[in-house]
Amino acid sequence: MAQVIDGRAMARALSDETAARVAALVDRTGQPPALAVVLVGDDPASHVYVRRKISESRRVGITSIEHRLPVDCPQTELLALIDALNADAGVHGILIQLPLPAGIDAALVLDRIDPAKDVDGFHPVNVGRLSTGTGGLVPCTPLGIMKLLDSVIEDYRGLNAVVIGKSNIVGKPVAMLLLEREATVTVTHIETLNLPDIARKADIIVAAAGAPNLVRGYWVRPGAIVIDVGINRITRDDGSTQIVGDCATHELDHAKAVTPVPGGVGPMTIACLLSNTVLAAEKSEDA
Ligand code: NAD
Repeated sequence: MAQVIDGRAMARALSDETAARVAALVDRTGQPPALAVVLVGDDPASHVYVRRKISESRRVGITSIEHRLPVDCPQTELLALIDALNADAGVHGILIQLPLPAGIDAALVLDRIDPAKDVDGFHPVNVGRLSTGTGGLVPCTPLGIMKLLDSVIEDYRGLNAVVIGKSNIVGKPVAMLLLEREATVTVTHIETLNLPDIARKADIIVAAAGAPNLVRGYWVRPGAIVIDVGINRITRDDGSTQIVGDCATHELDHAKAVTPVPGGVGPMTIACLLSNTVLAAEKSEDA
């Protein structure tokens, strides 16, 4: 039987550490870290994510300030809000909930955030720091994935890692982090040929494609570690819906370890957002 890596338990432990860092920061500075969460429009899924991020922040003692803008908000208004948050010394982290409504240039908006407050790690300065291995804020999902992997791998040297998906928020940054650990990394995507053959050579598979049941049992060699990043809502025959990952988990008994969906990468992503916010606040003490 494959070991099921318990992302919920690991996220709780990380959040407990974060709460202790928050308490220490309050002792030193008299102020808790503050996270500004900006939500534009009324995408229902985004509202759910924002609510969860805010309630988890509060649980560890981070002050979270929600800024809601209407779907037809002019881009200039959003940029002006970011400028104000950048200038506010009482705000340590800024999160712009994605996706932004059509008509708003997401790249321009993300570039406007002060890299020191970019707790999502999407600013080009932080992307550059990650790819040169020179610090900076690391995107939350890849950071969480590495913590899950570190719980079952001591030494990455000599291991083959196959990343499925090359997005800027998951695939590419996780590949950079695996390279930092000295793994040998292959990044694959929708145009990759012979993906099952490539996956079968992997000691580590990180599946971040957004394709339910993509990674089948015969793609995975015995003893491999499989991190399932996918979050896919599927409709069953009886009309009910269910959240599944990218892997046919029931076919992966021969793997060494797997992450469940839900309860794997998802909880770690939020826990890493909180730890990034505290890190940004700690760094601002030296600034
Ligand atoms: P994306 O759509 O930006 O990128 C998907 C990538 O997968 C692309 O590079 C694409 O080429 C590749 N791909 C798609 N179908 C493929 C296939 N059949 N074979 C091989 N490659 C394929 O997606 P994303 O934002 O990187 O997210 C990927 C998945 O991870 C989604 O299901 C998303 O919901 C989930 N996700 C989860 C978390 C979390 O916290 N658990 C965070 C971010 C994303």
